[in-house]
Amino acid sequence: MGETEDERTAQAGQLFETFVQATTCKGTLQAFSILCRQMDLDPLDYTHFYSRLKAAISSWKVKSLWTKLDKRAGQKVYNHGEACQGTKCLIVGGGPCGLRTAIELALLGCKVVVIEKRDTFSRNNVLHLWPYTIHDLRALGAKNFYGKFCAGSLDHISIRQLQLMLIKVCLILGVEIHVNVEFVELLEPREDQSDSPGWRVAIRPSDHPVTEIDFDVVIGADGRKNTLDGFSRKEFRGKLAIAITANFVNRNTTAEASVEEISGVAFIFNQKFFLDLKEETGIDLENIVYYKDNTHYFVMTAKKQSLLDKGVILNDHMETERLLHRDNIDNEALRSYAREAADFGTNYQLPSLDYAVNSYDQPDVTMFDFTSMYASENAALLREKHGRQVLVALVGDSLLEPFWPMGTGCARGFLAAFDTAWMVRGWTQGRSPLDVLAERESLYRLLPQTTTENINKHFEQYSIEPSTRYPNLNSSVIRPHQSAEFKGLYISH
Ligand code: FAD
Repeated sequence: MGETEDERTAQAGQLFETFVQATTCKGTLQAFSILCRQMDLDPLDYTHFYSRLKAAISSWKVKSLWTKLDKRAGQKVYNHGEACQGTKCLIVGGGPCGLRTAIELALLGCKVVVIEKRDTFSRNNVLHLWPYTIHDLRALGAKNFYGKFCAGSLDHISIRQLQLMLIKVCLILGVEIHVNVEFVELLEPREDQSDSPGWRVAIRPSDHPVTEIDFDVVIGADGRKNTLDGFSRKEFRGKLAIAITANFVNRNTTAEASVEEISGVAFIFNQKFFLDLKEETGIDLENIVYYKDNTHYFVMTAKKQSLLDKGVILNDHMETERLLHRDNIDNEALRSYAREAADFGTNYQLPSLDYAVNSYDQPDVTMFDFTSMYASENAALLREKHGRQVLVALVGDSLLEPFWPMGTGCARGFLAAFDTAWMVRGWTQGRSPLDVLAERESLYRLLPQTTTENINKHFEQYSIEPSTRYPNLNSSVIRPHQSAEFKGLYISH
């Protein structure tokens, strides 16, 4: 009998380890589903799932993970996972910010559903992490999922690794994840009977079970091309900016390990480097960043004339869309351009610059326009129809697009994820909707100004409560009457 129990414990530990070590999105979901089946755990039972999983998996290896997650879950704001119990939230998009928001809402006790239109995490590109994000991810068990997480002085991570670790935390906390599911639109309640359908969503595939759920909260986390209605966008248009990202295979040799990274912030001021680069190679850049991660990752901003001179762009056009159209780009020349810049930037110290492949099995190099960056005018709105309300909000790139070479997408994105969770908590707990919206808009006004310097340095104090993160907080810059009347955030149909 004892032996059988031991065997069961060992098997559970092994299944959990397979889940923890999974290296793809599909592999993670599959390992999770096997784990739940074998351990007889119901992943839809979101209120008990985490505690039941914890009880089932008691191997020594996993103890440190439970300790970390328990510590987070024990924060007062969550009220033992009962702060928002029963609130049904949909998150559109399983990027880093959508998943980070999902974790907070799950800790508050919400039923959280994430829909993601793809079923692969394939972005090699690397995000810069602010010290607080490193602290935050460590506290969620980042090292348990990815042993190399921010080892030494590293302060970055590939987007795919980040998504992988966050999706695992989501699943552990009882978040429902559906891949290959695309959001189409939010559907209004049709009748005012209390037993008729409330706010639902149209998705592809149209017969998916998620279409049967009435949502209280819908959060757009689907990246720069936000698909949720009701939000107008501001455009910040600068001078023409053409970015190139390139990923090369990292074989983790000693020679590769000794090559220094290039931190963008410092390099922008190094004019001699750029003059030498131009003179030696004809490549003219405004900045370049190099991170050594799963790949050797480079992001650079290139001047148009040098791309024309080097035959990367075939014909000059005024309109950026035509200029950077697929048909106007010589891919081979683009690969050479990025490789040459990477080689020069690392002082020819990387032994071989072989391109890593992207999700299409092609060399992972991309050129794109980021002359315009978008930000939403507002962070949230409340819609009401037949007496039924839904709180709608944006997070991540849908809310505020980052400047890629600085990689701020994730740092500011997580702050917005916390602020959004705080808003959901306030609304669920019966604070006046207009107060909640006004506070959310006030916090959103702060977001573009946040830097590593002006947020609270005591990361261990961070919670979704804004005052723990923003010193000298004035969360009533926007008054309730302003947010409603002037911005039309309270939409009653
Ligand atoms: P994203 O990471 O863009 O995630 C949005 C998710 O929503 C995606 O998984 C997408 O598949 C899903 N989605 C979209 N539409 C729907 C829909 N209708 N229904 C369901 N799901 C949907 N930043 C940098 O700093 N440096 C870089 O080099 C860099 N490279 C990038 C490369 C690509 C291809 C992309 C898309 C973004 C890149 N970014 C980069 C931006 C960076 O990834 C984001 O700032 C960061 O990931 C946080 O974004 P997010 O979670 O808000 O959105």
